Amino acid sequence: MERKRICVIGAGTMGSGIAAHLANIGHEVTLLDRTRQEAQAAMERAKRARPPHFRLEGTAETIRLGGTDQDLGAVKAADWVCEAVVEKPGVKKAIFSLIEPLLGPEAMISTNTSGLEIGTLAEGRSESFRRRFMGVHFFNPPRWLKLLELIPTPETDFAELERMTRFLEESAARRVVLAKDTPGFIANRYGMWCMYWATSCAEALGLSVEEADLITGPFMGRPKSGTFRLNDLVGLDVMEDIAQNLMTRRPEDPRTSRFLEAKTVRALLAKGWLGGKSGQGYYRREGRELMALDLGTLAYRQMREASFDSIEALKREPLGSRLSKALELKDPVGEFLRRFLPPALAYAVELQAEVSHSPEDFDRVMRWGFGWEQGPFELIDSIGAAAVGLDQAPFYEGDKVRLVAGGHAPLKVEPEFAPLESYPMLDEREGLRVRDLGDGVHAVCLTTKLGVVGPPVVRALHGLLDEGALDRFVLATEGSCYSVGFDLKFFRQAILDKDDRAIAEAIESLQSLAMRFTSMRSVAALHGWSLGGGLELALGCAAIAADAEAKIGLPEAKVGLLPGGGGTAQMRSRARPDAHGVADMIVALTEGKVCENASEAMAFGFLGPNDLIVEHPDRLITDARQLAKTVEPTSRPWPEVTGPASGIAEKALKALQAKGELTEHDLLIGEKLRNILGKSDSFELALRKEREAFFSLAHEGLTLGRIAHMLETGKPLRN
Ligand code: NAD
Repeated sequence: MERKRICVIGAGTMGSGIAAHLANIGHEVTLLDRTRQEAQAAMERAKRARPPHFRLEGTAETIRLGGTDQDLGAVKAADWVCEAVVEKPGVKKAIFSLIEPLLGPEAMISTNTSGLEIGTLAEGRSESFRRRFMGVHFFNPPRWLKLLELIPTPETDFAELERMTRFLEESAARRVVLAKDTPGFIANRYGMWCMYWATSCAEALGLSVEEADLITGPFMGRPKSGTFRLNDLVGLDVMEDIAQNLMTRRPEDPRTSRFLEAKTVRALLAKGWLGGKSGQGYYRREGRELMALDLGTLAYRQMREASFDSIEALKREPLGSRLSKALELKDPVGEFLRRFLPPALAYAVELQAEVSHSPEDFDRVMRWGFGWEQGPFELIDSIGAAAVGLDQAPFYEGDKVRLVAGGHAPLKVEPEFAPLESYPMLDEREGLRVRDLGDGVHAVCLTTKLGVVGPPVVRALHGLLDEGALDRFVLATEGSCYSVGFDLKFFRQAILDKDDRAIAEAIESLQSLAMRFTSMRSVAALHGWSLGGGLELALGCAAIAADAEAKIGLPEAKVGLLPGGGGTAQMRSRARPDAHGVADMIVALTEGKVCENASEAMAFGFLGPNDLIVEHPDRLITDARQLAKTVEPTSRPWPEVTGPASGIAEKALKALQAKGELTEHDLLIGEKLRNILGKSDSFELALRKEREAFFSLAHEGLTLGRIAHMLETGKPLRN
């Protein structure tokens, strides 16, 4: 990754979010608002943002703050000046005229806007400025949304556009979609329209906000926020600004007038109920309770969970067939889809050539920016054009995509972003697939739900290693996360059946598997939840490649156990190499430590110097594969630690118990961890003690209580 000096101007919602994102991944960032005081106040707000802007405490302090009134000199050293001030052309243009004489000859220059015409913002600037100038449309919040629309003007130099694209994809962890310089680009022109259109369809059909959110959430291949929660998240003021801009700049587009049909948006705006940011919108939190807005009376009432039999019956079908069947339903789900979907998909077809270079780009915007499972053109193909009232041949055909204006474009070839599922499958067995990643590297992919590791998968992995066909490999998961851990249902059953042999075998087999990985050229690829038994297998591997946002930890204590698959013993060499370091590790494992992201996991020790944090959300497999090409088996170090680690930990644990943060049962777990990590003189001895401790904890009634509670509620019980 190229480390750059970046000057972000405008420290509002977007500017501070962009600055945080760039600082998180290691760039040298300066953030300017009108005055230094305003920048400082904005940074204080950014530190409190939820979801958090920053990965690590202390990153905010790496950002230099200043004001355009007296610190514009920061622009001189910048490799990239990223303007993100208010959506007012006059203010933006004034900034450009101020910074132009200060810019370095190679500096990249961009404006962040939701929908202003990029070309006109550079009017009056020099030729050198104009050929480097373009729009970058980050999505909010920048840390969490990988899409970036990049909008050149007719005067943008092609080489500059390529330079910016390369930088954003390789060093700013973004996926770039080129958009045309039209109002709202692709995302806001179409995505915002869909938000309003879904709102007005729900109003017209008299659906409740809960019903509409249920229909327009995962059932339609969209995020859980559905329609009204999404409105609250985006903010009705932001929605309305974008809608007004589109109506003003595209009055000839008949569909823009539909913005006016969503009556509740304007009614709520008039009351100042803007959504989450003002504490209320379509939903309102009252204490611990969430209230919902009655769309007819605009009064809040208690939430009523929505449910439709048709959704239950169809929800497991693939998206295309699910929606094509739902379009026929005689219930509110069918009524909503018949009203909403055909115009929404027709509008995408109408807009494609005006706003985008291809249906593939258009689909990517809706997938990456709005979290749709399929973009509108993919949906038309998978539902069938006729079923949504369109007369269209399929858009996607082999390696081409059909353009609405005629002709075809080749689909993008981007091997660096290829997902696991795109690599050829060589073998499939219980809970596992083996894929060929090329260059002699295999992927061993877990296929269980949430990457749960149970005895059958452990057996299958041992079997695979016995066959001796793997030299270099990546251990990964095909699914939404790497692994939520070992199969708790298995342990609960074995404990209830008093099947000691099954418990002992399960833990021995997991431990020996992790140890086999250690002696191989193995890399684990972590994304999403990376916990417990799954993480223990990863810790066994010679190296780990972790997605920057992976949540990594060993929470076994929360279910009354301790890491028994070698994970406890492994943590001795990942703790700070002194008695206090080992004691801190014992305390953390007693608390069931889980780190919120990979940077935190690196600072804590779940990740170590051989491991890699992968910043780009779509490069995990490529980077893990690259690491697997050079990795060599590791040893199992057992660093000497002088000093009474166990005694220090005991004191700390008792203090936590006195504060009511730990229970007697936690202290029992802590005692066993102290014995393993603080009182063993070899890795092998620690492994043996780890198995014994696990086995003994599995026989505690309070452990069974914790496991049962976790399985039933998904939440830990501190008994
Ligand atoms: P905002 O109102 O939260 O912040 C704008 C900031 O610009 C304020 O802190 C203000 O003090 C500062 N500012 C105004 N004049 C300035 C000057 N002369 N010098 C320095 N700073 C100045 O706005 P925002 O939501 O962060 O939006 C910024 C830009 O990003 C807008 O163009 C907006 O359309 C676009 N955008 C917003 C979103 C979003 O969801 N909020 C998403 C994508 C793009």
